[in-house]
Amino acid sequence: MIDYNRKRLKAARNADLKRDKLYAKVPRLKEIEREIQLTSIKISKLLLSGPENLDEQVKNLKTEIENLKTQRKEIYIKHNIPENFLQPNYECKKCNDTGYNSDGKRCSCLNKQIINNLYSMSNMVHMLKKENFNSFDINVFSNAVYENEKLTPRQNMYYILDISEDFCYNFHESNMNLLFYGGTGLGKTFMCNCIAKALIDRGISVLYQTAFSLFETVEIHKFNMQTETEENKLNYNMIFDCDLLIVDDLGTELNNSFTNSELFNIINERLITEKKTIISTNLSLEKLAQTYSDRIMSRVLNNFALLKFYGKDLRWESR
Ligand SMILES: [Zn+2]
Repeated sequence: MIDYNRKRLKAARNADLKRDKLYAKVPRLKEIEREIQLTSIKISKLLLSGPENLDEQVKNLKTEIENLKTQRKEIYIKHNIPENFLQPNYECKKCNDTGYNSDGKRCSCLNKQIINNLYSMSNMVHMLKKENFNSFDINVFSNAVYENEKLTPRQNMYYILDISEDFCYNFHESNMNLLFYGGTGLGKTFMCNCIAKALIDRGISVLYQTAFSLFETVEIHKFNMQTETEENKLNYNMIFDCDLLIVDDLGTELNNSFTNSELFNIINERLITEKKTIISTNLSLEKLAQTYSDRIMSRVLNNFALLKFYGKDLRWESR
């Protein structure tokens, strides 16, 4: 419901912005709006005071309002403005982002959201118990200078942690996506799990997939439709529908023109629908650019915060 409130507020805020812009462009519309308001107030005052010629006076004022509305209509037509221009633009036209239809029943969009949330919990529940921001131990990262990096691995981790927590905190407001890159065993998957846990706890739907399983899901959906299981269908839809998609281990899949064009499709579609994505990869940025098409790289470079993980492989370090 918090999510639905947010959606309605957003629609109302956008409508307000549109109204301000429109009134700045066509000031007469603002005057008309104000005159209609004032006339309506006059009518309610009359109804309260109840003078002798009440009916006649009310009738005149109502005619005045009708005239103003006609004027407004003419201005709309003259400027080619659609009639419903100032109506809030709700994400779901069926329930106007309330989650419930006029008959009091749950809207299909709310049912979908509930399924999404249940799904992401069952999808991730096994790892989230162990790996979350509370179990994150910054001290496993060395505080000694590392190769040519300006920050020590620990300082770097503080920086990444900061951005990751911010990503969760401003999940709905910002349009940032994250790319975690760097060698194995440096905490990329761990960080993905921390973020997933924090968001799922807030009812945000998350789909975690390794690149390998992601492309497998897409391939089955596209080429083996007859034998596709319900689970695969759900997985496929979630790739596009979930609030956050985490693609782990990008670069370990069998790379070809199919995976390249599907990856572009997924990233692009999610950017258009303003849904967030986290990609984690062991490849360097150079290697990534060699492996994936220019249009994928330009989407990533323009829309993702690039966070480099470096240091010694933690899995081999004694603690
Ligand atoms: Zn709805």
